[in-house]
Amino acid sequence: MKVTQAYRYALDPAPGQVAALASHCGAARFAFNWGLGLVKAALSQREAEKSYGVPDELPTEVPWSLYGLRRAWNAAKGRAAPWWADNSKEAYNTGLDGLAHRSALKRLRRLNKQFARRVGPRTPDGGRRQASARWVKTKAALGAAHARVANQRREGIHKLTSRLVATYGTVVVEDLNVSGMLANRRLARAVADVGMAEVRRQLTYKTTWNSGRLVVADRWLPSSKTCSGCGAVKAKLALSERTYTCIECGLVLDRDHNAALNLAALAADVAQSCGETQNARGGAVRPGTRAGRAPAKREPRKRGTLRRKPEAA
Ligand SMILES: [Zn+2]
Repeated sequence: MKVTQAYRYALDPAPGQVAALASHCGAARFAFNWGLGLVKAALSQREAEKSYGVPDELPTEVPWSLYGLRRAWNAAKGRAAPWWADNSKEAYNTGLDGLAHRSALKRLRRLNKQFARRVGPRTPDGGRRQASARWVKTKAALGAAHARVANQRREGIHKLTSRLVATYGTVVVEDLNVSGMLANRRLARAVADVGMAEVRRQLTYKTTWNSGRLVVADRWLPSSKTCSGCGAVKAKLALSERTYTCIECGLVLDRDHNAALNLAALAADVAQSCGETQNARGGAVRPGTRAGRAPAKREPRKRGTLRRKPEAA
């Protein structure tokens, strides 16, 4: 059976709009770099003050937060970027927001290391001792840094999920093996920072609010390994292979785009077979079966875990 699908793309810019988009991306990058320069300058100024013996309580302020960066940007943009009015202020805000988040993560990492060096209330052999004043101070700073990063993350995830639900009637997420990904050192930081579970939780209740639908693709659905053109399934696809090349039909496509097309096909199949109101859970519908192929399940799994049986379609 041939299934014809319509895909809705979020962007279809005219040439003039392409230029505007490029300009806005450049604006965000400009704001990011400008802010980074400001933070670096403030930090070296602070170092210099320290060496002159300026008391600790009166150092130059380093604009770590989005609020501080935005205030500094608004004061300086006339000089730093006389063309700033050509772009939406949101473009600059995006750049500064990215910088604030990165700074907060860096600061958190630095404080973690510093905290480990301080003399805490426990001796290495488990006894008790008086914690140093610096330990107490670093502990407080570490708590504040954790809270800041958590807030930024929460706000970012809320913005993302609200936008997705407002823009699309159906949203597809993959039921990824997050604990397995966290065990992979190269993926761990990126995964932990994104907060996958939280994204899914918010999408679940926000799609309900907007009477949209959340389709959850089964963990074992080979969305990346399946060809979106002919349905062939590769046995192996290394994480480093960013382009999908099908040896069956010759399709060459960006890896993530190919996986997204498979997930879009899944959502369309679910809409056909389950009606408009039901949420799809599990492997009842798979892109691989459209071409008459048995879906290959080749992801590694932990010993002793049960694999869910696909239900009959
Ligand atoms: Zn193919």
